[in-house]
Amino acid sequence: MADIGFIGLGNMGAALVRRLMREHTLHVWDLNRAAVEVLVAEGAVAANGPGDIGASGVEMVITCLPTSAQVEEVLFEDDGLAANLAEGTLVADMTTGDTMITKQLAARLAEQGISMIDAPVSGGVVGAEQGTIAIMVGGTEDLFARARPIFETVSPNVFHAGDIGAGHAMKVINNMISSCIRLATFEGLALATKVGIEPMRFAEILSKGAARGFVADTTLPKYVIPGRQEQGFGLALMYKDLSLATQLGQDLKAPLTTGNYAREVFRRALNELGEDVDITQIVRLFERGADVDVCAAQEAADKAD
Ligand code: NDP
Repeated sequence: MADIGFIGLGNMGAALVRRLMREHTLHVWDLNRAAVEVLVAEGAVAANGPGDIGASGVEMVITCLPTSAQVEEVLFEDDGLAANLAEGTLVADMTTGDTMITKQLAARLAEQGISMIDAPVSGGVVGAEQGTIAIMVGGTEDLFARARPIFETVSPNVFHAGDIGAGHAMKVINNMISSCIRLATFEGLALATKVGIEPMRFAEILSKGAARGFVADTTLPKYVIPGRQEQGFGLALMYKDLSLATQLGQDLKAPLTTGNYAREVFRRALNELGEDVDITQIVRLFERGADVDVCAAQEAADKAD
C-alpha cells in the first residue's frame, strides 16, 4: 500500500482514483472542491493544494489535467508541487499532454532530484472504471519498473512506450489514426445510405472486411446508427489530441497530410455543431454533405421488415 497524491479529479481522474483507492491511500486535489469532497466521502484524503500534496510525504504524485499547461502550473506555481516534493519522489502525468513540454518539465524537475514519467490512458472512462484501460508510459526502464505495480492496480494493460514523452506521443498518434478512420468510415456510411444500403447492414459487412475495426464494429452499430448516442468523449477533447499530434509532426518535421486534414474537419465540426458535443455528432457533417439521415434510414428499414 502506497501514499499517492492525485491532482485533477474530472471524468477520467476520478475514475482512476477510484481504481487506485482499492489498494492505496490517495491524497487528492482539484480546483473543483465538489470533486474533492465526493472522493473524500469514498475514502480519499483531502489536500489544500498542490503544495500540500507535495509536503504530505507521498511517494508518487499523479496529474490528470486538461492540458500540459495546467500540469506546468501545478508543478511550478509559487509554493506548488515542485517546491514541496521531497527528492526522489516520482511525478506521473496521466494527462493527454504535449511531448515537448513534458520533456522540458522532466528536465526542470530532474534539477531538483525529482523524477517524471508520462502515462496517458486510452479506453475512456468506462475502460478506467472496468480496469481495462491502456496506460502508455514514457520514461526510463527503472522508472517504468517503479510505477508499473501502482498502474497495475488500475489496469493490467500497462505498456512502456519509450523515453520521457513517448507515452504522450503514442497516445496522440493513436487518436490521430482513430480519427482518420472515423472520418473515412462516416463518409462511407453516408454514401452507402445514399445508395440505399441499410446502415446496420453496412456496419455488419464492414466489420468483417478489410476496413473493420472499432468504428465499424462498435461505434456504428452501438452509438451512431441507433440515434447518434453519446460515446462519452467530447469532440473538443479529440480536437485537442489532433492538435497535439499535428504540432508534434511540425516540431519534428514529419509531414502529416491525413492527420492535418482530420484536425481541420474536427475544427469545422466544432464550429458547426458546438464546442460541447460528443464525438459521435461529427457524423452529421457527412449526413448533411450527402443529404441523408442515417438514423431515419435505419428506422425506415426496421419498419419495412
Ligand atoms: P475534465 O475536464 O473532466 O476534468 C479536469 C479537472 O481538472 C477538472 O475538475 C478541473 O477543475 C481540474 N483542473 C483544471 N485545472 C486545474 C488546476 N490548475 N489545478 C487543479 N485542478 C485543475 O477532464 P478529464 O478528466 O476528462 O480529462 C483529463 C485528462 O485525461 C485530459 O488530458 C484528457 O484528454 C484525458 N483523457 C480523458 C478521457 C475521457 O474519456 N474523459 C479519455 C482519455 C484521456 P475545473 O472544472 O474547476 O476547471
